[in-house]
Amino acid sequence: MQEDKNEAQMLAEAARLRARDLAVLWHPCTQMAEHPDALPLVPIRRGRGAWLEGVDGHRYLDAVSSWWTNLFGHGEPRIAAAIARQAQELEHVIFAGFTHEPAVLLAESLLRVAPPGLARVFYADNGSAAVEIALKMSFHAHLNRGDSKRRRFVALENGYHGETLGALSMGDIPLYRRTYAPLLLTPLFAPSPDAYDAAPGETAEQCALRRADQLLALFEDNEGEICALILEPLVQCAGGMRMHHPAYVRRAREICSAHGAHLIADEIAVGFGRSGTMFACEQAGITPDFLCLSKGLTGGFMPMSAVLTTSDVYEAFLDESRDRAFLHSHSYTGNPLGCAAALASLSIFQSEPVLEKNRITAGRMAALAEPLRAHPHVADVRQTGMILAIEVVAHRATRRHYDPREKRGLRGYRHALDNGVLLRPLGEVLYWMPPYCIDEAALQQLARITTGAIERMTD
Ligand SMILES: *Cc1c(COP(=O)(O)O)cnc(C)c1O
Repeated sequence: MQEDKNEAQMLAEAARLRARDLAVLWHPCTQMAEHPDALPLVPIRRGRGAWLEGVDGHRYLDAVSSWWTNLFGHGEPRIAAAIARQAQELEHVIFAGFTHEPAVLLAESLLRVAPPGLARVFYADNGSAAVEIALKMSFHAHLNRGDSKRRRFVALENGYHGETLGALSMGDIPLYRRTYAPLLLTPLFAPSPDAYDAAPGETAEQCALRRADQLLALFEDNEGEICALILEPLVQCAGGMRMHHPAYVRRAREICSAHGAHLIADEIAVGFGRSGTMFACEQAGITPDFLCLSKGLTGGFMPMSAVLTTSDVYEAFLDESRDRAFLHSHSYTGNPLGCAAALASLSIFQSEPVLEKNRITAGRMAALAEPLRAHPHVADVRQTGMILAIEVVAHRATRRHYDPREKRGLRGYRHALDNGVLLRPLGEVLYWMPPYCIDEAALQQLARITTGAIERMTD
């Protein structure tokens, strides 16, 4: 048993695993040259609740829900059991020409909880694929309606939609986009409604509405050429957890409808209660033409995604001709294990007052972060539901950031890790996006270590 090993044995085992990994693996979103010296690779043997347990015997509080995937904690027994049960029955089956109950049940369940007016579910296996599907479906739906002039997309500055070429094209984060720019589609970028950029004296709502006017101008300048607007409702997560007022999403819906374009809501990160409501679109009172879901869809257990759309879009594809059909597919479309995990996760929302409990937890997060507002290197503390972000700057009055080459964020990351907390700053934005089950003691530890991380980043 792991527990019987002494500390020296566990440390040795972790070191061995680290060395074997670095001999054969290539990690995502990582400059591998930073391993092993600048960045310690952390071998994990299991996860329980909000905690990860290292092979070296140390515990880490997963304050980022393992890249925003986890909802109810690691090892959530109901989801684990559902996957195990499903694996005994049917692990996978081709989803063209065949179907199975978990896929049907999940589609029914998703449509029940999604904003009203969505009527069809198309499955894939990751968030980027869901974005590709929404983009292709939007273009193709217009084409099938006899409109071949709509070929451009509108995306928001500072947005992020994934890493495959189409999804990356819609993103505006230079770090990810720059290198591949010669290969990418060129959407029309509209200014972000980010409330952090509000003019002096302007409210978040006024800022959002001003930006919506600029969006409208973009549509008017490109009349009849736009397939869809894609946006992350309420929180631009990868773009530094920047937040905007729901009024923008409401106006964006109106503008798209008025100009015959689709609205694609990318709720891959903010869906399933993360924003404070089941879906962020609810806070704007709108229904998008496409709702992209992944990450929390399976409670953080299985790679899976779904694109929900309207009957109107679906019916544009019905015809005798195969050319008019949506021929997109992924081998693992509708994977039963993913469906079983997602169903188990959704049933937790039904059997427990998840959103109400989250409101209490979010209130505690706000209270614990409050003292940081006075910190001389904190320019902003912002929150949307179970996402709280702290903008660390070199100079508070001008909000000037540190030179990225100083890698200040990395200092914060290392400090937190050395103190048993997984924080993964986006640049110099520290954020809390914990599993919903995080308890008071863990939240207090998180606040304490975050304060230390800010000291380390700014000294
Ligand atoms: C993570 C993310 C994606 C991409 O999902 P992957 O599963 O990583 O491909 C797309 N959009 C948003 C808003 C995301 O946060």
